[in-house]
Amino acid sequence: MNHRPISLLPDVLISQIAAGEVVDRPASVVKELLENALDAGASEITVRIDGGGIQRICIQDNGKGIPQDELELAVTRHATSKIQSLNELESVMSLGFRGEALASIASVSQFTLSSYPKHQDSAYSISNQSGQWLLEPSAASPGTTVDVQSLYFSTPARRKFLKTEQTEFFHCLDVVKRMALANPAVTWLVYRDGKLQSRFQESSWSARVFSILEAMANGASKPIDVHAADMQLHGAVGLPDAARGKGDMQFFYVNGRFVKDKLINHAVRSAYEDVLHGDKFPSFVLFLNLPANEVDVNVHPAKTEVRFRNARAVHQWVRHSIQASLAPSRAVVPLSDSPASADQVAASTPVSSNAWRSSTGSAPVVQVQAKSAALPFLREELADYIQAYRPLEPAPRPVQITAQPKEPQAEPPRAAEDAEYLGQAIAQVHGIYILALRTDGMVVVDMHAAHERVLYEQFKNALDNQQTISSQELLVPLLVQIDPRLASEVDNGQHLWEKLGFRLSLISTQELAVRAVPSMLAGQDLSALLQQWLEDLQLYGVAHVLERQRNEWLAGLACHTAVRANRKLTIPEMNALLRSMERTERSDQCNHGRPTWRHFSLSEMDKWFLRGQ
Ligand code: ADP
Ligand code: MG
Repeated sequence: MNHRPISLLPDVLISQIAAGEVVDRPASVVKELLENALDAGASEITVRIDGGGIQRICIQDNGKGIPQDELELAVTRHATSKIQSLNELESVMSLGFRGEALASIASVSQFTLSSYPKHQDSAYSISNQSGQWLLEPSAASPGTTVDVQSLYFSTPARRKFLKTEQTEFFHCLDVVKRMALANPAVTWLVYRDGKLQSRFQESSWSARVFSILEAMANGASKPIDVHAADMQLHGAVGLPDAARGKGDMQFFYVNGRFVKDKLINHAVRSAYEDVLHGDKFPSFVLFLNLPANEVDVNVHPAKTEVRFRNARAVHQWVRHSIQASLAPSRAVVPLSDSPASADQVAASTPVSSNAWRSSTGSAPVVQVQAKSAALPFLREELADYIQAYRPLEPAPRPVQITAQPKEPQAEPPRAAEDAEYLGQAIAQVHGIYILALRTDGMVVVDMHAAHERVLYEQFKNALDNQQTISSQELLVPLLVQIDPRLASEVDNGQHLWEKLGFRLSLISTQELAVRAVPSMLAGQDLSALLQQWLEDLQLYGVAHVLERQRNEWLAGLACHTAVRANRKLTIPEMNALLRSMERTERSDQCNHGRPTWRHFSLSEMDKWFLRGQ
């Protein structure tokens, strides 16, 4: 190979390279331009997309505009009005700050930027004409218009990666929806190939959510608005019934910026863990606001990932807040470092769907407060966590029956002490169902699903009430290879291991000896499980692992030990199961979110046979 001297790249080429990251498809051009319009304080934004955005993207806003003498700078790489120092970067609240979007877009398109700021006499535009910038008077209306044509004409390789115009258009529309959800006070107009496609009129936040995500309307979601120290989480979470087969209704914003973040996803996912089957996707629109210096938004050129200064705290708080709002009958978890101080525990109010409907964006429904300064609950000791994660009511409380029969004239559910509520078993149907009689009708129970739920809650209770899981010593310690970077977690998690019935010690940085295991798990291959736990410990911290891994593990265990179909049960056994269901919280749904029983009232049965009509 010939030697080629090192040389600096030409400016346009640098922008074209950056364009590969920043504006890899029409939708990301739309995103960058909309961010600019929002940063400029626009209250009305018109988006025109022709030919999937490849032919043309034109975005007009009524924001503050760019003075004539700054137009050239606006399209210059690394020129921005949004930050001037590292300090400002660390506390940036604008959507943009890298100063490279316009330059990148211009380097791969035929580009015209026109602007008419308030205190200027007329509009000016700047456009790229055969490698030169041309500045001239224009007829633009107040605000800014960016017209991007023939996208990627200069970079055919990039163009090859694009999908059909139809697909690209819908990606662009998704971007507009994301932004519109977060900015209900702005009116949005979207034209596709000259025709009006969508219009989102300035509105309240809830009206905006319902108009864009109809599936969240009609009681299918619950509002959430919680504060802790200087964090706020508000928005709406879809009920488990409204979960979908794909993750197309998941919107999470950090300080107004839409993000697709692993940590956040995980937190939300695990909040739904107990109520949702693993392959269903919950729907949610959530806004997390926290001081700008608590979050680093400069992680990725497209700014869709973030890094939290205190990832663990954010993870746990988000998860618990969602959990609390999904299960309003349970008390809200206190976020205090002294669990005993009851005054730090705020009340939880049951949520009515009306409160949601009448809200203009932030109905304070469930309040979680921590008294002390920023993120105080992070000065953690394991004991505090364990304490904090215990349900607030240690004693078994009356079961709340939520699986009410759907008919409006249905009787109110009976109290737990009333042995009638799931009735008296009279038969087993096809080895799958239990048929039980009630004075007002009959009940059909899915035997396996119900048993699984009961066991799961029992296991969980045992742990929640500080009972240690019984443990079995191994005659010959089991040696497990581990990744050296995880070795420190073996010691960090010591309390946790003991609590779960393990005895572990490090032999070297890459080998672990397991000397005792929980009796329930004796004889199982635990090496993969332990590896996974160590990973999770490192990523999410002790408290989370204690909760999440434990639940997964208990769910598996419950499923495994629950009565299988076709096991013959005696009448007393069936009754015993019904009674324990009555005592079990949330026993009306199995661990996979399916119902476990149904009630058929006499009046309903009468209707089947047209009696008395
Ligand atoms: P950044 O948004 O990161 O600053 P851009 O390349 O997107 O970088 O924009 C460069 C500058 O141009 C911005 O800092 C802003 O001052 C100005 N600008 C861009 N678009 C608009 C707009 N729609 N309205 C007003 N000013 C704008
Ligand atoms: Mg920008």
